[in-house]
Amino acid sequence: MSKQIPVSKEARADSPEMDALRDDHTHQVAPDLAYKRLALVNVAFYGFPTEGARWVLIDTGVFSSAGMILRAAESRFRTDARPAAIVLTHGHFDHIGCLEELAQKWDVSIFAHPLEFPFLQGEAAYPPPDPQVGGGMMAALAGFYPRGPIDVGRWLAPLPSDGSIPVMPGWKWIHTPGHTPGHISLWRPYDKALIAGDAFITTRQESAYAVITQEPEIHGPPMYYTQDWNEARWSVQKLAALEPEYIITGHGRAMAGGEMRRALQELADRFEYVAVPKRGKYVERPAGIGSGHEYASKDNAHLHSIQRK
Ligand SMILES: [Zn+2]
Ligand SMILES: [Zn+2]
Repeated sequence: MSKQIPVSKEARADSPEMDALRDDHTHQVAPDLAYKRLALVNVAFYGFPTEGARWVLIDTGVFSSAGMILRAAESRFRTDARPAAIVLTHGHFDHIGCLEELAQKWDVSIFAHPLEFPFLQGEAAYPPPDPQVGGGMMAALAGFYPRGPIDVGRWLAPLPSDGSIPVMPGWKWIHTPGHTPGHISLWRPYDKALIAGDAFITTRQESAYAVITQEPEIHGPPMYYTQDWNEARWSVQKLAALEPEYIITGHGRAMAGGEMRRALQELADRFEYVAVPKRGKYVERPAGIGSGHEYASKDNAHLHSIQRK
């Protein structure tokens, strides 16, 4: 399968030499912004890498990666590292795998978009993934599948409606639905840094091979889980119009600079042709905001996870 929008390795945002010198198990893209690649998915760290710094964890990886997140946090922010908060781009299982464990350990607020709350307080499941699109990834992920919706309601806090993020001064959250109803991206105007979650990604997440090799490309949201392709297209157009300088996405390497911007604009322009599957359940019947299908019954979640295997 060809790449959606190819980019060269020159577009990478991190510096392997500097990362090796710091040796804190993260890839740094700005002095106070880094990410860690866990199995199949990224988490991001906001905050200067100094002892006692105030920092924030963005997304929490798959189930069983808490140890890796804690080790990276401890080497970046020193011992007993506890963040000021956790911010979620969305609640898919590969972004909330360690959420309950970490929230319990740290006892900190979890900020998310209110439209994502039903999935995070045990009220609803995501609509089942579409087995017609994507392919190989399903098998690769089988071991990480969730057993049902989680309930982290006691730590959950809504992102303020003015677009600010309480624990991240200078940042804005932007509603970027489509992949999920309450999906958000994080944007810092002064250096044009963008944390895009799964609104778009930089590797072909549907293919186990591409996930391992992480061949760089600008790619629409992971296909098998995207609920509404019209919303997803508007979200990518909104993000491309920001003309970001650096991007950290939920899957794939961080990227920076003009080539990345051109590729992102091309994805926005040609979204219909390169990112949207030719056919698929959510192409024919979008399950976006207000569709009545955006929240599935939590009672079916267990069944879905069995069907997916
Ligand atoms: Zn996702
Ligand atoms: Zn994801």
